[in-house]
Amino acid sequence: MLSERAEEILEALWIQLEEQGKKQLDLGASRDEPAIEELIRLGFIRRDLDHIHLLEKGKIHASACVRRHRLAERLLADVFDVKKKIIDEVSCKFEHLLHEGLEDNVCTLLGHPKVCPHSKPIPPGKCCREKINKKLLKFLAPLSDLEVKDKGKIAYLQAKDRSQMQKLINIGAIPGVSIVLLQRFPSYVFQIGQSQFAVDKELASSIYVRLTK
Ligand SMILES: [Zn+2]
Ligand SMILES: [Zn+2]
Repeated sequence: MLSERAEEILEALWIQLEEQGKKQLDLGASRDEPAIEELIRLGFIRRDLDHIHLLEKGKIHASACVRRHRLAERLLADVFDVKKKIIDEVSCKFEHLLHEGLEDNVCTLLGHPKVCPHSKPIPPGKCCREKINKKLLKFLAPLSDLEVKDKGKIAYLQAKDRSQMQKLINIGAIPGVSIVLLQRFPSYVFQIGQSQFAVDKELASSIYVRLTK
């Protein structure tokens, strides 16, 4: 298994290459650090006199690391309510707990999120590509992704700001209450207790529901 340091360097290289389109990759580390040797030995990078190349094998591994990192951020922000300010420190440690195999469970649990809390794309996994065929696996999803008559309990809210959060709280859309989706168009209509409410897509997508049969 790759050391944490080597994983960190690999992720940084991938981001520079794939997301920032840099030609000249910056290692962010000294060239003779043991982590660099580790990456070379595994065939993940190649070091020329004045260039660092991210090799195909390294790219595949790096994109999986970035995926785990950003899923860890989502998990921390959405489920554990960790504040954005400290997410970076915590998620670096946390992503190593999400090792191979586990990340797809977390991804499914979170409703296959597309971006991290910093709005950076999360590289999709096998679970995201297969979700269309495997509706039964859906465990937690935003209200906007549910079908009419789907029901469950509100797991958490992911409102864009305080006023949206307040709006949801005012209508009683809070974690733990039962909710049923009644209509998707022209607005999302759902029922909580004996009351029905209509919201737009943005608000509907901020209510995460743990589904029940
Ligand atoms: Zn992020
Ligand atoms: Zn997924």
